[in-house]
Amino acid sequence: MKMSLRTRLSLSYVFIALLCVFFISLASNLYLEKYFREYVIKTQEKRNDEIVSMIGRQYIEDGKWNYSTIEEVGINALEQGLIISILKNDGSVIWSALEYNSGLCQKMIMDLTHNMVSRYPNWKGAYEERIYPIIVGGAEVGSVKIGYYGPFYFNDIDLSFINTLNRVIFGIGLLSLAVALVLGYIMARKLSIPISKVTKTAEMISKGNFTDKCDVKSSIKEISMLTGTINNLSETLYKQESLRKRLTADVAHELRTPLATLQSHMEAMIDGIWEADVERLKSCHEEIIRLGRLVGDLEKLAKYEKEAIMLKKTEFAIAELVTPILLNYQSEFSAKGIELEYDESSIKICADKDKLRQVLVNLLSNSLKYTQPGGIVKISDRKEDDFVVLAIEDNGQGISEADLPFIFERFYRADESRNRDTGGSGIGLAIARALVEAHGGSISVESELGKGAKFEVFVPC
Ligand code: ADP
Repeated sequence: MKMSLRTRLSLSYVFIALLCVFFISLASNLYLEKYFREYVIKTQEKRNDEIVSMIGRQYIEDGKWNYSTIEEVGINALEQGLIISILKNDGSVIWSALEYNSGLCQKMIMDLTHNMVSRYPNWKGAYEERIYPIIVGGAEVGSVKIGYYGPFYFNDIDLSFINTLNRVIFGIGLLSLAVALVLGYIMARKLSIPISKVTKTAEMISKGNFTDKCDVKSSIKEISMLTGTINNLSETLYKQESLRKRLTADVAHELRTPLATLQSHMEAMIDGIWEADVERLKSCHEEIIRLGRLVGDLEKLAKYEKEAIMLKKTEFAIAELVTPILLNYQSEFSAKGIELEYDESSIKICADKDKLRQVLVNLLSNSLKYTQPGGIVKISDRKEDDFVVLAIEDNGQGISEADLPFIFERFYRADESRNRDTGGSGIGLAIARALVEAHGGSISVESELGKGAKFEVFVPC
């Protein structure tokens, strides 16, 4: 049977409280009462000894039996539940409680029997007697017969102590039960309310609604982690969903433009409106090349993202990688009027040179594309903790804050219309990231619109 968290927690609290009460009662009945019984027995024995020594003392002090003192001791004993008789050496009775007040003695025995049976329904006790000799100067001068309800008895005070104890335990039990119920309910509410909210948000996410946030504030670490995770999940899914939509639109768009151009050119040539001269065929050829480049980029990315990239690592100086690439690009940068700057260093790195070349080429060609004539592109490298950092910084058009989180995603282009002229398909950075991550590194960007962009590649040394 499925139970709500609230019911289960409340029941658990009640169960624990009941268990505690049960063990406390068990311990009190088994041990407390056992020790109390032993205490009562010892007290009774001590009392008997005291009575005997009191009567002995009287004989020593007076040199003979003093009836009134003995009677006083006897009545006192009677009040404590003891029926005593003091006998002379020859067996004659000096004082006897039974003779003094036999009705009271019988009532007392009946009361004690009633006390014991009320506490222990199967109690089998009976009236017992013990004889203690009174020795004075080494000679027995008489004896005291002490009769009592045996093997031991609880007088009214003892019985009321035990009953009060049990009532206190019962009261504590009831109180703990009530506290357990209230605490259980409060705790369950604290847990179940945020969990229900998180479940509702998760349900919304599963239905494709990523905008509703789970606004649960909980002091419970796990719950606040769960809420955070669900909110992150919804954010990630939202981003993925937007990217997926954008990806489909982008691929369609990328294909449509060259295909439309090709179609219109071809139709014009077939209909004889245009002559199929070299210039027009060249333009068609360029569109086909653009299509081929896009498909090639897609294939490359699919390959890097699908399988684990196999790295052929070697140790080399960063300058060995950067300098030849800069030499290759120098003419293109000069043609656009952009200055290229590189501070050579002797830092070495252990990486797949070809893959890092691809990364640098992608970043450099972006700087070339997005920097205006008269601009400057700086390349530098440094060591930072366990990483070698390769930085490419330009003072070109930069990237807006809104675009920054997405530029490493496939097909993402900060400004579509502007980028169309540059010929970029929005895959270069996605490829660069896949390659750097395959090295166990990362790639970061800092940029401000209109002020340029700085890309940093972190590769473990
Ligand atoms: P693309 O082929 O469009 O350049 P990328 O994946 O290389 O694709 O880059 C994604 C987008 O990031 C680019 O369209 C561009 O808007 C932006 N971008 C990348 N590098 C720079 C840069 N150095 N300066 C300004 N914007 C850049």
